[in-house]
Amino acid sequence: MISRQFQITTRTPDETQKLGKAIGKWIEHPLVIGLSGDLGSGKTAFVQGLAEGLEVPDGYYITSPTFTLINEYPGRLPLFHIDLYRLDDICDLEDIGLDELLHDPAVIAIEWAEKMSDDLPAELLTMVFEITGDDERKINLIAYGHNLVNLIKTLELDENIVGKK
Ligand code: ADP
Ligand code: MG
Repeated sequence: MISRQFQITTRTPDETQKLGKAIGKWIEHPLVIGLSGDLGSGKTAFVQGLAEGLEVPDGYYITSPTFTLINEYPGRLPLFHIDLYRLDDICDLEDIGLDELLHDPAVIAIEWAEKMSDDLPAELLTMVFEITGDDERKINLIAYGHNLVNLIKTLELDENIVGKK
């Protein structure tokens, strides 16, 4: 499958959110985004921007669904924010209905997605967050499939995205 990689360094939480917003604005079709990286690396900050780009109404505040595992928000497409940090037993995936959720016409952002790598769809956007300084995060995006490769091309041309490498 065709793929394309893109790397960006953000230097404030706001820059990470802006990346999320740019991706959210671009999205027109259902999509799964797998987010990986240590605690505090900015995965949730990214999803906050993503929600903005998907026009989730202002009253919603996006926090890590660490204990609830799944939060759902209304937007141009429904946004499911999933956090698998506390998912110890992979069997739990079925218990929470995630396998069915993956077929929903929605945007599904999954923190600690590597815990379910075998169950992720082939067309996928993966993002790996790395803490490289107090406020610096290196974010590596890999897009799989034609549609998502076009997203990367769009980001490459986006003048609002700073820190591109
Ligand atoms: P995660 O969901 O990966 O655990 P969060 O988004 O909840 O991470 O938290 C990231 C933390 O790091 C926040 O406290 C945020 O203010 C801080 N931070 C500092 N610099 C950045 C940056 N460049 N991008 C994102 N978050 C940053
Ligand atoms: Mg989080």
